[in-house]
Amino acid sequence: MIQVLLWDLGAVYSERMSLPARARADACPGVLAVHEAADGALARVRLPGGRLTAEQAGVLASCAEDLGDGSVHLTSRGNVQLRGLDRDTTELAARLSAAGLLPAPAHERVRNYLASPLSGLCGGFVDVRDAVTELDRAVCARPELAGLPGRFLFALDDGRGDVSAEDADVCWRALDPTLGAVLLAGRDTGERAPLDGAVDALVRKALWFTEVRGSAWRVRELELPDGDRLPASPGVPIGPFRRDDGRSGVCGAPVLGQLAAADLRALGEIVVTPWRSVVVPLGTGAPGLVTDPDAPGLGISACTGRPGCATSRADVRADALAVRHRVPAGVRMHFSGCERRCGRPHEPHVDMLATSDGYQEGTP
Ligand code: SF4
Repeated sequence: MIQVLLWDLGAVYSERMSLPARARADACPGVLAVHEAADGALARVRLPGGRLTAEQAGVLASCAEDLGDGSVHLTSRGNVQLRGLDRDTTELAARLSAAGLLPAPAHERVRNYLASPLSGLCGGFVDVRDAVTELDRAVCARPELAGLPGRFLFALDDGRGDVSAEDADVCWRALDPTLGAVLLAGRDTGERAPLDGAVDALVRKALWFTEVRGSAWRVRELELPDGDRLPASPGVPIGPFRRDDGRSGVCGAPVLGQLAAADLRALGEIVVTPWRSVVVPLGTGAPGLVTDPDAPGLGISACTGRPGCATSRADVRADALAVRHRVPAGVRMHFSGCERRCGRPHEPHVDMLATSDGYQEGTP
């Protein structure tokens, strides 16, 4: 099946390529420091734990309509991006600040917090939602942490093993209802803390990293003793779910991670997952989302590609859409316009790299 698709796209086959050595400065975008893309400025809006209230969703939707390209774009860290913006983001920043989405300008690019998206709704040993809020406050209260690299990632896993598998730099993961493990770069450090000590443990580890990191951006770049990996579980399954309180919610995925502003507004309160899907905590209506777990093409993602990215060799999103309906739901496939492979998934996937001679398939 995949070979047929590749043939359609004029692909060539070769061995997996190694990742290029990193030679760029840390350029993670925010709202106040945007990325200059070929289709205008790009701003990344941090959502601690992926959570958006209905009011905040409405504000983001209006920003996308009035100031951007009319959509929000989900990221692999449970944040969202606005594209096609003016370089001067004064108005955007003012709107987001008023909605509580830009609470600490000096720390905006380090507010990267994953949390189990279904925490407090169903499953898990504990509810980590309040801890995410507490962690954000604690990080933003420490001026030293404003200097963390924009790629540094915190995570709070309620015990199901979903976000702890995302190799966050520092992670607290519940082991049972009373105690959790502290992980560094996805490995167990042996340190244990209860939920009400999780924030302190993570902040201490982040402060330690600022002291020892040198030029490292991520904890995994340091030489550390090997710790165990804890059992992982996949992300939130697509489709409806039953909450612990007996009510219903649903998880769905916007096509290629792009959600129209009108759909975002209609969804209201949501939790953005690190797997380019969205949890609707209450109800089963999900405008703009694919909620059928068997839908073809569910596992396809793509970087921005042309025309939004000047580096790209192809309009990878158009190419991905062209084959989407013929890719079985269980196939995870990522299209990239160059070797940077922006937004590639962490899990095993078919790597589709645009080259000057068509697409090259790999299996990273
Ligand atoms: S992978 Fe390359 S082409 Fe795609 S968005 Fe990133 S830099 Fe642009």
